[in-house]
Amino acid sequence: MIKCPNCGGELKYNASDNLVRCEHCGSEFQANQQIAPTKKSKETTELKGKVYSCSQCGANLMAFDETAVTFCSYCGSQAMIESKMTIQTNPGYIIPFSKTKEECIKTFKNKVNRSLFIPNYMKSDLVVDKFRGIYIPYCIYKLGYKGIDKEKGTKYSHRSGDYQYYDDYELQFDVDAKYEGFSYDLSSKFYDRYSEAIPFNEEEKIPFSPNYMLGYYADAKDVSGDVYLDTAKNEAHIDYSRVITSTREAIKYNCKGAHVNFEQEEQEIAMFPLYFLAIRSKNEKKVNYAIVNGQTGELVTELPVSYTKYVIGSLILSVIIFLFANSFLVLTPHEVCFAAIVFALVGLGICFIQAYELSNREKHDDDLGLKSVKEVEKAEKAFSILGIAIAFLAMLIPVLILAMNPVDDIFYYEAAIASLGLVLFNFYNIIKKHNDLVSTKLPQLEKRGGDESE
Ligand SMILES: [Zn+2]
Ligand SMILES: [Zn+2]
Repeated sequence: MIKCPNCGGELKYNASDNLVRCEHCGSEFQANQQIAPTKKSKETTELKGKVYSCSQCGANLMAFDETAVTFCSYCGSQAMIESKMTIQTNPGYIIPFSKTKEECIKTFKNKVNRSLFIPNYMKSDLVVDKFRGIYIPYCIYKLGYKGIDKEKGTKYSHRSGDYQYYDDYELQFDVDAKYEGFSYDLSSKFYDRYSEAIPFNEEEKIPFSPNYMLGYYADAKDVSGDVYLDTAKNEAHIDYSRVITSTREAIKYNCKGAHVNFEQEEQEIAMFPLYFLAIRSKNEKKVNYAIVNGQTGELVTELPVSYTKYVIGSLILSVIIFLFANSFLVLTPHEVCFAAIVFALVGLGICFIQAYELSNREKHDDDLGLKSVKEVEKAEKAFSILGIAIAFLAMLIPVLILAMNPVDDIFYYEAAIASLGLVLFNFYNIIKKHNDLVSTKLPQLEKRGGDESE
């Protein structure tokens, strides 16, 4: 642990001015210089801190100053246990925090204040204050290929009668390709769909120094560096093929794709900065995440919709539509039924669109890091047969009434009301599904070691 050389006080890195400051005597130090003399130069790249384990979700967080980790940033649990474990990460690079916690909270508040249907407790200062700066270990791959790439090509030769003749060619490319900058997070608890949403600018990485960690947590990596190697090779390959096929020769000889076997030249660990907030639901069963990139300030969050706010919102909207229709249009009972059909159709449409979006974004099926650590629960079915059936029924009722053409007006109004009721119920279900999919189920403490089935 690095202490103030002047007074032995606690040091913290300050993202706003890039200085390390002593909490006690106020001394300031350049972050890119060695603050306290160490015995061996090797030690400066070693990541040493106290490890705290979360007894609810199993996350391991490291702290580099005297303040203990009092709550888990991944699940919000306060059951953190100081552990004897030592973690060797030896990062080669770091991107220091350049956004402050205040800036991060401001970004989050801007977002939630613009969202009408987010539950109020998520906006409270008490919740928002739990944003915590964490360094997450990333793996950076350097890939390269040097040699000859032989590819097939064809070229039109001549025509004879009804036949066209093509000649085959072998194209040879003298390749010296290097790729670097493919990086993937090595923390299974930081879902890939989040890390992909708020990418880092790797070019700003600097050689690792523990000075930048002062005052922050770090996550212990639990995913092997090799897990994403194939993904990185694929990415390199896609770009390589694009470059080769756009050369003049490839176009001339109609070469459609190129392939070489990239070699891994280097694999480096880098620490990237993130602000993490886990918001527990009121029943303590689920957690929603808000994560801000500590370098770019970009936010990714998946928040639930409040049922109360939804019901109140739709009631207000209904009243407005009713008043509007009443004062400007005089609707015949038939027209009321037609209006209900239009509403039901819109509801059905939204139902389909959402089902499509949700099923497209299955829970973690494409999260290689998470999969490498534990078995991933099968994605919940986003497509509800019941929902579609109800939406159809909402359409069918007014259609039937119009077809039967009863004399008494009351039937038309009743059909329209029944139809709208079903549409509202359907939306309620859609919200429920949405809320399930944007939250992570918390492991329940009392179930530990017992029957995990649910
Ligand atoms: Zn001091
Ligand atoms: Zn936890």
